[in-house]
This record gives sequence, C-alpha cells and structure tokens, in this order.
Amino acid sequence: MTSLLLTNADILVTMDAQRREIPGGAVYVEDNRIVAVGPAAEVPQRADTVLDMRGHAVLPGLVNTHHHMYQTLTRAVPAAQDAELFGWLKALYPIWARLTPEMVRVSTQTAMAELILSGCTTSSDHLYIYPNGCRLDDSIEGAEEIGMRFHAARGAMSVGESAGGLPPDSVVEDEAAILADTRRLIERWHDPERFAMRRIVVAPCSPFSVSRGLMRDAAELARHYGVSLHTHLAENDDDVRYSLEKFGMTPAAYAADLGWTGPDVWHAHCVKLDRAGIALFGRTGTGVAHCPCSNMRLASGIAPIRQMRCEGVPVGLGVDGSASNDGSHMLGEARQAMLLARVGSGPAAMTAREALEIATLGGAKVLNRDDIGALAPGMAADIVAFDLRGLGMAGALHDPVAALTFCAPQTVAWSVINGKIVVREGRLTTLDTKALAARHNALAAALVRDEA
Ligand SMILES: [Zn+2]
Repeated sequence: MTSLLLTNADILVTMDAQRREIPGGAVYVEDNRIVAVGPAAEVPQRADTVLDMRGHAVLPGLVNTHHHMYQTLTRAVPAAQDAELFGWLKALYPIWARLTPEMVRVSTQTAMAELILSGCTTSSDHLYIYPNGCRLDDSIEGAEEIGMRFHAARGAMSVGESAGGLPPDSVVEDEAAILADTRRLIERWHDPERFAMRRIVVAPCSPFSVSRGLMRDAAELARHYGVSLHTHLAENDDDVRYSLEKFGMTPAAYAADLGWTGPDVWHAHCVKLDRAGIALFGRTGTGVAHCPCSNMRLASGIAPIRQMRCEGVPVGLGVDGSASNDGSHMLGEARQAMLLARVGSGPAAMTAREALEIATLGGAKVLNRDDIGALAPGMAADIVAFDLRGLGMAGALHDPVAALTFCAPQTVAWSVINGKIVVREGRLTTLDTKALAARHNALAAALVRDEA
C-alpha cells in the first residue's frame, strides 16, 4: 500500500453531499482510494508522499463527457471555420477519411494532455470514423500511456450519402461489422468495477448517419453487456428537421422509440430538446453532455440547461471535438457554460459553483459513475490543484472558488489520477508534451493537404 497526503490547501472543494468547502483542507489517499477528507488536523498526518497545498485550491478532477479527440488534427481548418454543423461536417469528412492508426493514438494523447492540464481527470471520447485500419484500441492504448481515466465510445456511421445520410459512402461501415467490433472491444477492454480506468461505450454517431436498425441493435447490445450508450441528439434546427422529415418524430421521441433513454444513456448537445423531451429525459434519468463552446462555434444555439436541471436531467459538460471548439480546456468549458447560460437567461441562470458542480458531479452522473466527481472517503483518488498565486487570479481571492470560473481559465499545478501524480508543478509526468506536439503537428500537416 502507498499513501499520499495533500494538505493545507487554501480551500478544499469537496463536492460531497453537504458541498463542503474546507479552508486549510486535506485529503488522505491510500493506493487509488480516498480514505479521509477534512481540516488538515483531522486527517492522518503522515504519508509516503506529502504535498503541501498552501496557495492552492484543491478540487475533484473534472469530468469531460463528450469529445472527438482525433479532431485535434483538424483544428481551425480554413474550409470549416465559418460553417454550420452539416456544412462543417461535409468539409471535414474527406480529410478525416485519411486518418491512420498513429494519428488516432497521437491525437488522443494530445487531447488528453490538454484536458489533464486543464483539470480534467476522466474523459469520454467518441471515435466514429475508422478508415485505413484505425481501431478504438489505438485510442485506448494512448490513454493507458498518459494515465487518464477513460470511457472509450465505439462510434459508427453506416448510412452514407447514397442512402440519404450525410457522410460520404467511403467512410461508412457495414452494420454487422460495427456490432461485431463493438462486442470485441467490450470483451477485451471493458472494466465494470468501481475505480475502473477503462470503460467501453456503445455509440453510433448520430441519427443522421446510422439506421434505425443499428440504433436499436446497439441499445440491445449495450444492455446485454451492461455498458452505457452515447450519441449526438437535437444539436441544431437542421438536425431536428432531419428527424421530423426522415422519422416523423422529434429527436427525443425517436430516441425513446429506439430504447435510447435511461440512466445508462447520455446524448451530446440537446440544444433543441423540446419541453416534452426535457420531461422525458428527467423522468428516465437520461443524461446530456452540454458543449457550450461547440454550440457557439457552430451557432447551434443555447441549450436549455436551467430547465433540464430543474426537471432532474443529469447534465455534464463536454468540450466536444477539437474541430468545433477548438480547445480541450475543461475549466474553460465550465466558464463558458456559466457565461452562455447567462446570455440566454440572465445573470442568475448559472452560478460559478453550479458550473463547477456540473463539471464534476454532473459529469460523473452522466457517465453513470458513483466513484468520481467528489472528494470523500471511498471515492477514487482523482484530485486536482490550481495555484491561486498567479497574475490571473490576483485580486480575486475574496472568493477563490468562484474565481476559478470567473477569471481566465488556469491550468493545474497538480493532478492525481487514480492515486498517481500525473501533473507535478504544472508539468505532465507521463509524456513529453513538446515531442508530442511536434509529432502531432507533423501528422496534422500530412492529413490536411489541399483542403487548407
Ligand atoms: Zn460531437
């Protein structure tokens, strides 16, 4: 057994049942489990490793519920800078068709490094395009190396242009092959236990790129294995129009019809979820990944997060794919969630603390986990610390917790994931980020050729 103590934090944000914020707080960890949380004097004083957190705010690691990490190779592509969702996708699909396994692994690590440095300790990733021998295993192996807690979503597209779908035929897969590969991945990688570092998610890309049959079969497969389901839903007006024209139903009604509701399901975006859909999601515990930056970038609209939370819909945050954000800054996403809610519904629509709660507890609930998102005995040791002594926070220490989202988004000084120190004094301990960025840039240049 190895022990770790983070002590004397200026403020320790627990997100526990009482939402305690403890000045002079400490967390004591044995292996990958939190054993004690409280004022420094009330937790064990000795440990194999002791980190003095004076000058820091200590929080539960943030949880990212929606991403397409391979898109870090296609950030800011000129042809897709100023389009709405469907036009943006059509500009990018031909580029993504050239992805290679190395590109998937390296881009996953780039996105994860960025996420980890921004306070995120658990992330989902939705990989839905598998050209040139790419496999979800390429992402998973990348995640293992960097040490991030990972929900790898096996995405898929099966309805190409010739069949009335949006993607070109060259990037869609055969439905039987999709289901077989999903089964293989669950059997090889899925860990259902508490503190799992790796879970598989069944995740056809969206109602406009797969068939009704695949959506239904995917739900059945996921429930057979007890794994979660994820897709895109009701992202913008075009998406809703497609659903009404093609299926004769709103996106929420379509999801319900296919068995895509329940605590084991979460949908990305839901910007245009109607009142009946919000009530349905609340009743069934169906989760939503709110992606404010992406929704602004593509001018999709403002998701009705206040109403969702009032109706009991589990809401987490997602940075979304890097071609529509184009950053993976989790604390920055919490800030944008707070700001965007206020644009839509006034300054009381979301507080700074609520934004942090959605980014931690909210994300954990959406991923259907009860072992992350809070600092409390029995929880997984996913802990981050932000240094409060820099320029960006100067003058904001009247309320350092609110300052984390009101001020410009900071990066972490420390990050502990599953009991291991992954960021030490602002530097990633598991990978060389300079070499990673250099390789990533070389691969991105090879991928985006004529289109740029
Ligand atoms: Zn997405």
